[in-house]
Parts: sequence; C-alpha cells; structure tokens
Amino acid sequence: MLFHSTRGKDSNKTFEEVLMQGLAQDGGLFIPDYWPEVNINDLRSCDNFIDVAKHIVPLFTDSSFDRAEVNKILDKTWHDFEKKDYINIFNINETVSILELFHGPTAAFKDFGLQLAAAFFNKTLQTQNKTAIVLGATSGDTGPAAIDACKEFDLIKSFILIPEGNMSEIQRKQMTTVDKNNVYPILASGSFDDCQDIVKKGFNERTFLKDDQYLLAINSINWVRIVGQICYYFYVSLKINKLSEPLNFSVPTGNFGNVFACYAASKMGMPLSKIVVAVNSNDILDRFFRNNDYSKNEVNETISPSMDISIASNFERLLYDFYLNRDAEMCSKLYSRFPENSIHIDQSIWSKSSELFLSYSSDDISTYKCMQYYFNKYNYVMDPHTAVAADAVRSLKDALVSKTVILSTAHPAKFPTALSNASLHTDMPNKLSAVLNKKEKAEKLSTNDNSIFEYIKTNN
Ligand SMILES: *Cc1c(COP(=O)(O)O)cnc(C)c1O
Repeated sequence: MLFHSTRGKDSNKTFEEVLMQGLAQDGGLFIPDYWPEVNINDLRSCDNFIDVAKHIVPLFTDSSFDRAEVNKILDKTWHDFEKKDYINIFNINETVSILELFHGPTAAFKDFGLQLAAAFFNKTLQTQNKTAIVLGATSGDTGPAAIDACKEFDLIKSFILIPEGNMSEIQRKQMTTVDKNNVYPILASGSFDDCQDIVKKGFNERTFLKDDQYLLAINSINWVRIVGQICYYFYVSLKINKLSEPLNFSVPTGNFGNVFACYAASKMGMPLSKIVVAVNSNDILDRFFRNNDYSKNEVNETISPSMDISIASNFERLLYDFYLNRDAEMCSKLYSRFPENSIHIDQSIWSKSSELFLSYSSDDISTYKCMQYYFNKYNYVMDPHTAVAADAVRSLKDALVSKTVILSTAHPAKFPTALSNASLHTDMPNKLSAVLNKKEKAEKLSTNDNSIFEYIKTNN
C-alpha cells in the first residue's frame, strides 16, 4: 500500500515517508492509493481495542513495517489511559450513545492519533539512527497530546507554539508544566493563525535543523493520526452491534480529521448510515454541506476552542476522494485559487453530499443549553465540544433513523469556565488537578521576527 498527494504531484510514497514528511511536496495531503478492506468476520472475533487496531493499522503500514513489528508496537502504543480498554461507551438511551474518547493522559481524543504517531516516529528514528524536531501550533488539545506522546522519546524534541487567546488554563498548563528537557513550550505573541504561519515558514526554511534531522508535523494532515482514529470507529461499531447495522456518528468538527477517519472506516467496510458534521459558529463546513459554499471567514472565539478554525485542512481529502472521484488535477485547481476564491463544486456532484452527510452549526448559547439539557435529563455532564455534536443530534433527530453515536472528544473538567457558566460541575481527574498546581515554564517569543527559529536552533 503506497500513498499519493491529493494534488497529484507527489506519489509512490511509503507509509514511513508519509509519516515523516507530513504534508506532500505539492501542498496537498497524502491519501492511500486505494482503500484497504477490513475482514469484518475476523474483526468480529476481537474483544478489545488493541485487537481491533491490529486488524486496521497494518493495512496502512505494510510498505514499511512487517506485521509482527507493528503488532509489537501496538501492544505498547496507547498508555496512561484511565479506562482498562481505553474507551467508555455511555448509553444515553436506546438510540443514542456517547463514545468517550477522553480517558487518555491529556483528557482529549487527540491522544489516540498522537500516541500512534509518536510510536512510529520513534521506531523510524531508532532504525535510521536519526533525531527529530516536532514543530507545531495548537489551539488547545493538539499541543498537550503531542508533548505527552513524545516526551518519553529522547530522539524527539518538541517545540509547541501556544497562541495568545482562547484556550483554557488547564490546556496551557498541560504544556507549560512538563518538566522534561526535550519539551519546549513557547508562548507566542499573536493568534493561532500567526502561529500556523510561523510553523509553515519553519517547514519551508528549516534553518534550525541539523544535518540528517527530521522536522515532524503533528497536526492532523499527518496520515498516521487518521489511522489511529479509524480504529475507534470500528471498535464502537463492534461493541454496539457487532458491525451488523449501520450507525450514525455525530462528530464535533474543526480540521475535519475525525470526520475523515469516520469516512475512511466506511470505505474500509464499516457499516455507516450518516455522518453528522457538527461545528460551532466557525461554520465553513456547515456552509459547504448546506449551500455548496466553502469560503474562508474570520475566526470567532467560542467556548469550544479546539474547533475554532477558518479552514478545515482535512476537507481536501474528502473533496478529492468523495466528490472529485480522485481527480487530482481538479483538486489542485480548486486549491490553487483558495482561499482567495471560495470553493463551489458542480451542483450535480455536490448533491451527493446528502447520501452520507448532515451538518449543523451550534452557537455558544445553544451549546450551553445542550450541556444543561443532558445534565437535567440524563444526569450527564459533557464538555462544550461534545455538546456541539449532541446539539446537532437533538436538532437533526428526525433525519437520523438508525442508532447514533456522539463522539465525546474532551473531558468536561478541561473547560471549568464553560462548565460554571452553564451552572454545571464535574470532578476533576487527578491528572488535571495536578497540572493546575505545578509551576509553569515557557519561553515568551514574538511571531514577528526570527526569534522562534533562533530559539529552536539554540536548543536543538
Ligand atoms: C481537535 C478537537 C476537535 C476537532 O477535531 P478535528 O479532527 O480537527 O475535526 C474537537 N474536539 C476537541 C476536544 C478537540 O481537541
């Protein structure tokens, strides 16, 4: 199984090359050359998450790692989770379940993708006898999960840009209180977009790298993160009905990585009814699925900060595979003019959206109301990201015929201000309260000059 770019100019890549490269050379995103099929009958005999992962992950890695090697990696990949089988499924009623993906060390679902990424980064670096720099920007949960996943691997140094603004104190402290000499949190002047621009520049210029050193991307353009997430879609389908009936999934969405993992699982044989693309007031995806209008707006700050985006990078993979039938030339053409020109596709192609997708945008007020509704009715406290997806399900319920799974992407205790604004309370897991009391250490740097690159070079 090899990989190629959605823009057609970077192809025949192995899993390892895609893992270590991140973004394709032509600016596109890597995608597998074909969708591998999962043997559903074999999968039905699995009884835990790791077993499921062992049926999924090797389908993507065979160009670089043999199966026995991958199985050995998977036995150790996911660690420091609070639940024995990593995931909890909470049944709200007969038709709606909540897939709790926040029991990992950083209390957000990003642990699933980033722990898998770190495990394969480390394996590759060991084999090639090289080191790596991780450089990334975070709006809240990516940074903590990347730092935590990489911190035990001495071959990797992590430099994470923390923008000014909207993330919660706990999210920030998860990054600034890790006392490790391969972890470098940077409090950057500027917005998330400013930080992203610096990261992009860093990947282009690479002035701070040593010879023979990798620069690793940890945002969800990295295919390995999607692979880690595909696993839990199969897992929950197995747990709920042994993969016998299609389910609906409601996904709180930012960069579209999690939705794309759901779509990928269905291409690999998982029964699927509808995907509900649930967004906050940053509604570019909702505008696309409702009106065929994919156009960039200013970012709004909301109470679900990990979904505050102006464009959804993984949407390019869906456009390429689902709408454009893998026409790389067309995909490249649309993106070469974006975001200056918005993306509208042929109405006849766009109309196939409704086979698979529903979308909904929930503003902060209705997100708060939804959090309160689930508490009053079911005694269940959910975080604001999860509530965006739950709100979508409430409002689209007439269009959802089969059972629905709401993805819960963060522990509610990560967002104490939002919780208290909704007059709700939850106990804080020890791993989060411990962070609050630790001393913060981070470098304050400007995004307006080269100081961030100089800082990386000095500490490399
Ligand atoms: C990252 C994140 C999301 C959005 O996931 P995407 O894959 O970017 O769509 C949703 N909720 C939480 C809590 C997150 O951290």
